[in-house]
Amino acid sequence: MLATPLAVLMFFLVGRTEYYGMRKQFEALGQMTAWFSEHLSCAKYIKTQAMEEEEVKAGCAVIEKRYHSELIYEALGQVQVLLNSLYTNVVTVIIAVGGSRLILGGRMEQTGINTASTYMGKVNQYQAELLPQYQRVKGTQGALRHANSLLSLEEENREAGDMGAACEDLVFDHVSFSFDGGRPVLKDASFTIPHGKRTVLIGKNGSGKSTVFKLLQGFYRPDEGRILINGTDTAKLKLSELRRQFAYVLQNTPLLSGTIRENIAYGCLGEVPEEQIINAAKLADAHEFIMEQKEGYDTQVGEGGMNLSGGQRQRIALARAMILAPPYLLLDEATASLDHRSAGSERVSGMRRLLTQWCLFPIIEKKLSMQIM
Ligand code: ADP
Repeated sequence: MLATPLAVLMFFLVGRTEYYGMRKQFEALGQMTAWFSEHLSCAKYIKTQAMEEEEVKAGCAVIEKRYHSELIYEALGQVQVLLNSLYTNVVTVIIAVGGSRLILGGRMEQTGINTASTYMGKVNQYQAELLPQYQRVKGTQGALRHANSLLSLEEENREAGDMGAACEDLVFDHVSFSFDGGRPVLKDASFTIPHGKRTVLIGKNGSGKSTVFKLLQGFYRPDEGRILINGTDTAKLKLSELRRQFAYVLQNTPLLSGTIRENIAYGCLGEVPEEQIINAAKLADAHEFIMEQKEGYDTQVGEGGMNLSGGQRQRIALARAMILAPPYLLLDEATASLDHRSAGSERVSGMRRLLTQWCLFPIIEKKLSMQIM
């Protein structure tokens, strides 16, 4: 009976060490993978900055960290072996010392020792079978800790109500928001973005322009207040439905490996007629340069669009937004990499005409100003 709490304690300690070791190992692996994936994708930039040597040193440090986590894991494995043999030895001593005392005191037959040893043999056998399973479970828990924290995030509300295309103003009603309880980005902000007009939001870097877009699309929820679309609180809408109201173009919208046609049609369900793709490209002022490519709309854009220039990538991203014809087009400094002719001149291209119909740029805090055209 005395051995039972010891066995529980031993299971607990072995489980904890396995959990900790695997957690550290996978954290270091995650950091190493993220570091290499980020820095290898910036290889050209690193070369232009002549930072190769520093990068090699930093890369070695990341690998070393991973190596140390392996060493710690192996050391903890040895601690587990020690704990296990310590437990077996302590139990043997308990049986020997406790049994001898009982026999000497005349409270147990000599054969009692044999019975106790047989009993402990059975317990040890079960323990030997159970312990590795328990170790595996705890190790997996440690390895999947990060995945667990992602899985435990609140799920998107799939049961929420549907909504047709938005045809009314967007309303921010006393909205306050901060990231992870930090400094407020929006504080009691109330304003209306009129439907069918172009609204421009102007503000310094970090003043909260992109945050407004993210709130609109439901990537974050306001801490206080409501965002209304067609008079309905966006928190009560299905997220996929809400996001279908917007096409979002960033300063550097990523393209996906594949052809120009596939990239423009991305987001459309089913077959997309060629005419629709060409129209969208024309609106985004992209048709001309696409036709100059050897394979036209079948040109491969390469990983992340690397075969194209920044401006060309951006035009394709705009065409992708145009083809969806959403009620609201959100452009987050989306014309920054376009050339003078499209971004700034008075030449009214198809793209600019379209922007005038739909475009929405948001909002407000004291630092931000809004202009409606
Ligand atoms: P803008 O688009 O006007 O340049 P943002 O809306 O991107 O500004 O950012 C507003 C503020 O919120 C900034 O101070 C920025 O540091 C902070 N911020 C933006 N995104 C996050 C995030 N994911 N986590 C924490 N803080 C963020």
